[in-house]
Amino acid sequence: MGDLLSRLDFLGALILNEKSPWYADGLRFECSQCGDCCTGAPGFVWVSQSEIDELADLIGLDSEQFEETYVRKIGARRSLREFPNGDCVFFDTEKKGCSVYRARPIQCQTWPFWDSNLKNQKSWQETCEECPGSGTGKVYGLEEIESQRTRMKI
Ligand code: SF4
Ligand code: SF4
Repeated sequence: MGDLLSRLDFLGALILNEKSPWYADGLRFECSQCGDCCTGAPGFVWVSQSEIDELADLIGLDSEQFEETYVRKIGARRSLREFPNGDCVFFDTEKKGCSVYRARPIQCQTWPFWDSNLKNQKSWQETCEECPGSGTGKVYGLEEIESQRTRMKI
């Protein structure tokens, strides 16, 4: 019986290992406020209707006005506008931070724990190279990482 139980434990551990992602022991992240993820090369900050409504509310516009001024259509999706240099329209260059931080989109809230960054160790390494806060500082446990990762598919 003892042998059978230890074998079952071993099989259980094997199954768990197979299901555990490579970052099961956690990952480090602590934002250095460099602003790199909000500036530079052109990109997309996807926004849903509820995010548009929240952003509009924060800056005192109605949603239609907000969308006309700050949102661009990309196919069937919507993204925040950028300045010609690629900086997000809500990046405050003087304060070096987000001017709509309280209502920033989920995409911004969940960085760097995106599906695409967590695909494998190589993609995480690349993320660490572009974001100085990734791979350093506070350790985020698996549960916390997964709760961020699953908020949005990106
Ligand atoms: S690139 Fe990374 S460290 Fe820099 S502001 Fe963005 S999240 Fe923070
Ligand atoms: S909304 Fe704020 S956090 Fe998101 S990219 Fe723009 S400036 Fe950065």
